[in-house]
Amino acid sequence: MTTETASSSLSGSLMVRAEGVRKSFGRVEVLKGISLEVARGEVTCVIGPSGSGKSTFLRCINHLEKIQAGRIWVDGELVGYRQVGDKLHELRDREVCRQRAEVGMVFQQWNLFPHLTVLGNCLEAAIRVKKDPRPVATERARRLLDRVGLANKADAYPRQLSGGQQQRVAIARALMMEPKLMLFDEPTSALDPELVGEVLDVMKSLAAEGMTMVVVTHEMGFAREVADTVVFMDDGMVVEHGDPQQVLLRPENARTQSFLSKVL
Ligand code: ADP
Ligand code: MG
Repeated sequence: MTTETASSSLSGSLMVRAEGVRKSFGRVEVLKGISLEVARGEVTCVIGPSGSGKSTFLRCINHLEKIQAGRIWVDGELVGYRQVGDKLHELRDREVCRQRAEVGMVFQQWNLFPHLTVLGNCLEAAIRVKKDPRPVATERARRLLDRVGLANKADAYPRQLSGGQQQRVAIARALMMEPKLMLFDEPTSALDPELVGEVLDVMKSLAAEGMTMVVVTHEMGFAREVADTVVFMDDGMVVEHGDPQQVLLRPENARTQSFLSKVL
């Protein structure tokens, strides 16, 4: 293989590539040069103390936050910008929406539409944004609801479901867009402890089927079991990253050690 094909096949295997990402709110810099690569089909768990910038970084991957420096690519495509020479031009809203539609996001707080049924929640974006014909979307929604163990709840309203069930609907709804990447921001943090497992199980099966996932989580068991890579963030920086055995069991950095001693 020539050097050129070697490097292009390397970038072809990356689903996310972030380089030197900086983000400030006012004068406060909350991301101080984040670089991160997520290979296709890999699960990356991001851990770190509250306020370290984990959510902000996830939001940058979707261009929900504009970055002040650096670059993010998803599936080889620059996120939020078009590069002309060495200048970046922000994409039009329509283009940003198109990019965003390819990335599923599940937040801590399930944001289902309260006035729509479970099925209606799943259909909404697929029909409105993805422009799927209703029968096609409905068929997929039923399949996905079955996959998250909620086939019998299609006609229920969110308020009739437990937090764990609502979060599983949120995952099914995100999958409706047939995303190439899933971002999870502490998807189980707001759940009663007995409901955490059912959501993690759905995420595990998704990982086993080869979905590329970036998961911000405090569930160290999940990270140890499912992650290919664990990233420890502190104070807007990636302090340590590597395979879960190394980062979680034999952390080299004092800040990682201190964090883990508090959460494990
Ligand atoms: P984490 O998810 O690791 O807890 P966040 O990304 O939510 O951290 O926040 C990182 C820092 O950025 C925090 O100090 C937070 O207060 C600040 N921050 C986050 N969002 C905003 C915002 N919209 N405006 C101002 N400051 C923000
Ligand atoms: Mg957060």
